[in-house]
Amino acid sequence: MGIVTLKNISKLYPSNQGNIYAVQDVNLEIQAGEFYSLLGSSGSGKTTILRLIGGFEMPEQGRVLLGDEDVTQQPPYQRNVHTVFQKYALFPHMTVTENIAYPLTVEGVTKLEIEQRVTEAIETFRLQGLADRKPNQLSGGQQQRVALARALIDRPKVLLLDEPLSALDAKIRQEVRQELRELQKLTGITFIYVTHDQEEAIALSDRIAVMHDGKVEQVGTPSEIYNQPASLFVAKFIGKANLFTGKIINSRTVDINGYVLDIPELKSQNPGDQVTIMIRPERLQINPRTLRDQEITGKIVNCTYIGQTREYQVQTSMGLLNITKLATGTDYAIDSIVEISWSTKDCVVLFN
Ligand code: ADP
Ligand code: MG
Repeated sequence: MGIVTLKNISKLYPSNQGNIYAVQDVNLEIQAGEFYSLLGSSGSGKTTILRLIGGFEMPEQGRVLLGDEDVTQQPPYQRNVHTVFQKYALFPHMTVTENIAYPLTVEGVTKLEIEQRVTEAIETFRLQGLADRKPNQLSGGQQQRVALARALIDRPKVLLLDEPLSALDAKIRQEVRQELRELQKLTGITFIYVTHDQEEAIALSDRIAVMHDGKVEQVGTPSEIYNQPASLFVAKFIGKANLFTGKIINSRTVDINGYVLDIPELKSQNPGDQVTIMIRPERLQINPRTLRDQEITGKIVNCTYIGQTREYQVQTSMGLLNITKLATGTDYAIDSIVEISWSTKDCVVLFN
């Protein structure tokens, strides 16, 4: 059983065109101790799901469970979950110490214990020397650390985080990202993390739910989502993809512009049906010493150097191939003729 379970959850909002589903028939089961991300573009329903879990919204349909307890009708303060918002929402007139101590003060914890726990939190969140400052005397990264310290001080079972790093600039975002991951592992608290940034989700998460138009497209580990996307949407949304449309010949082959491409065996197939095949750019080899299962001749038509890697575009009879190679490898000249090779298992068949 999950620590947070959503069963057939739907949430409608009124709009000019009538009611629209912000979230439609969503089922999720989040396990205790997971770093679980909701990933999707703006408007896909991520914040609404967090608000439903936190109790700030009531669903029109479905149930929210914390452990085995149905909390669908419970107000936020009865749920053992906390939320960290995009904007830090610190109390401006309170010092760092007072902000962090606030939830304990409200709960009536003894002064001595508050002192101990806040001191501990100040160390954990590397806020030493800042304890007496007000929020407006802190950088964005520091404010976010205070917000996290405050959210974790009374040790909730679940922490909901809504794009908590989006207000930070790129370099600090990287740093705080790493800290978040370490903190989550250290405390063992379940994190449910909302982001539109696929890199962030992949770097941080144990599992990711990819959201699209209020629905869950796929749930999986970062590597499952990247290597075995369940839909065309996921394949396009996560990372870069070579996508080819072709016709099924039989359970093991597809015709792409006349090239007979071997695919992992299909369980059910209708010869003649259209399918899309995906191959990730780093799975394709250029002039390898030993050929993989399949190959095609091509001409290098473009190369972009981007530091660690080079991104080649290679014209073949199958279509244009995007290939990513480490920049430390051979540098192929434009117009050179090359052999491209790959393994059949790296071809992913997508039906939608
Ligand atoms: P995300 O967090 O992924 O950007 P949201 O959950 O905020 O998405 O929104 C999902 C959809 O619901 C969007 O179409 C949004 O416009 C709509 N929506 C969200 N909150 C409200 C609201 N309070 N009233 C009306 N529509 C809303
Ligand atoms: Mg949002």
